Amino acid sequence: MRSVRRTVRLFSLTPPRIGDIIEPYYGFEGAVCGAACRSGAAGRRLRRLRRLRPERKESPAARGEVTDMREEGVAIFDSTLRDGAQGKGISFSVEDKLQIVRLLDRLGVAYIEAGNPGSNPKDLAFFERAARLALQNAQLVSFGSTCRKGCAPEADGNLRALLESGTETCVVFGKCWRFHVDHVLETTEDENLRMIRESVRFLTENGRRVIFDAEHFFDGFLDDRAFAMRAAQAAVEGGAETVCLCDTNGGVFPEDAKHIVAYAAAHLGVPVAVHFHDDCGMAVANSILAVSAGAVQVQGTFLGFGERCGNANLSAIIPDLQLKRGIPCIPQENIALLTRYAHELASIANVEVPAGMPYVGSHAFTHKAGMHADGVIKAPRSFEHVDPFLVGNKRRFPTSEISGRAVVFARVKQILPALALHSEETERILGEIKRLEMAGYQFEGADASFELLVRRLMGLYNPYFELKYYKIYSGAGAGEEAGASAMVKVRVGEEIQLMAGEGNGPVNALDIALRKALGVFYPVLNRVKLTDYKVRVLDGRSATASRVRVLITSTDGASTFTTVGVSGDVVDASFQALQDSVEYLLLKTGARPHGAEPA
Ligand SMILES: [Zn+2]
Repeated sequence: MRSVRRTVRLFSLTPPRIGDIIEPYYGFEGAVCGAACRSGAAGRRLRRLRRLRPERKESPAARGEVTDMREEGVAIFDSTLRDGAQGKGISFSVEDKLQIVRLLDRLGVAYIEAGNPGSNPKDLAFFERAARLALQNAQLVSFGSTCRKGCAPEADGNLRALLESGTETCVVFGKCWRFHVDHVLETTEDENLRMIRESVRFLTENGRRVIFDAEHFFDGFLDDRAFAMRAAQAAVEGGAETVCLCDTNGGVFPEDAKHIVAYAAAHLGVPVAVHFHDDCGMAVANSILAVSAGAVQVQGTFLGFGERCGNANLSAIIPDLQLKRGIPCIPQENIALLTRYAHELASIANVEVPAGMPYVGSHAFTHKAGMHADGVIKAPRSFEHVDPFLVGNKRRFPTSEISGRAVVFARVKQILPALALHSEETERILGEIKRLEMAGYQFEGADASFELLVRRLMGLYNPYFELKYYKIYSGAGAGEEAGASAMVKVRVGEEIQLMAGEGNGPVNALDIALRKALGVFYPVLNRVKLTDYKVRVLDGRSATASRVRVLITSTDGASTFTTVGVSGDVVDASFQALQDSVEYLLLKTGARPHGAEPA
């Protein structure tokens, strides 16, 4: 019996649920697929889903066909903590790693490769702690090499460390390119095959499941196909459950990748995984084509971190496969978490998500050019390949000189729905925005300051307080006495309030003093916390005489908003942004200006 399905448009406000039919809006059509992983709760959901399907057909891979539509789903294998940790500027503490494991598990990936216990004793300690996490979707995997040449596996410390890590599945990598065996390993083919076969067998005989990482498989295959296949076959003989074809140097092109994966999938007799590096900018494309050629597991890192140019970026591969190709990767309801989790993972790694990153970057759905923005306002699909809402991202129209008045007007309309496009008020607002942008303000992202500006210009804003002055005292020193203090004097209604605050820097001290002074009248301000503070020098050429732009992001626990300030003085720019932050929260919570007559 078929289950009842809703039909959803991709631009509807409700996220699609498992079983919904997507309208052919972006050039693809099909049911929204269910959960993907083969293990844990997601795997159970997938199996339950399959039982709901009308009939279970023989799989296309089993029929030897290459297809773009796979019902079985693809297991996502994340190597952020192993290959990703090789990326420049990336360094994870044990706490960071545990947080990332929890995040990836919640997202619903199937495997998390968490380190190389043989080469790094810290990783072994990490595996001990990670074993205590109750994971719902993912399983932890340890990584290491085959035994060394001339060495028995049981005498190899690296393989013993893999056993000690306690993971049910281990990844073992070995050489598949004749060039490497001759010139890097400097041994015979027979010895290389023995190392692979016996290392895998050692682990399987000790009850482990093994994924064999066929290092340089694509280069090796193009150089000497039979040699590369014999190496991968040796792992299968040792009991490897999956052979992962690795493009270790990142130089393979999509047509070769597709052809080689199809060949290996047809001849190895075990499921095939892929692992691409991005040195030619092809890693995502190669991964997608590999899946269409029969790969059932895709390795990568969630934000593309990795050695040199990075690994295949899973935050693009997952929606590419799941939203564009209908191939399940993670539980469908988690697709909308992609953007949030990408930013959370980046913040754990102490980096920014590149603004232009597909799907999850802050510019992925930003329409700056006036004509594009105009088109999107009329019909989003005119300049968007997918609804940003589906991946948890947002459509943005930066208020900028080059965006058309329609865009700015659309933003103003969200605040003042009754405003007419051709009116004196609209001209005044647009003119003032232009003037402030020339002076260095940026309202892109600073929605709270934008709204306050529009309200102030229209006389729709009653100030909550008046600043009399602030003073900052900062100096140098050691320990708790170092830092800064600030004094703030405000007038609220008819009352004057003077407060002091201490902080680890002048802006922190100013923030504390301002909230203390105003908190007397508006207790709601005690809930506000600053979550981000950014300073940008606007004219780098004149050094200390430069103007600075400060962006402050605040939260009251329920919502997050950003405010902006610009000045030649960083403290003054910060105060403007702080003042907007306080006023915006009071406005949003409906607070009445202290001392004002009830409306
Ligand atoms: Zn790699």
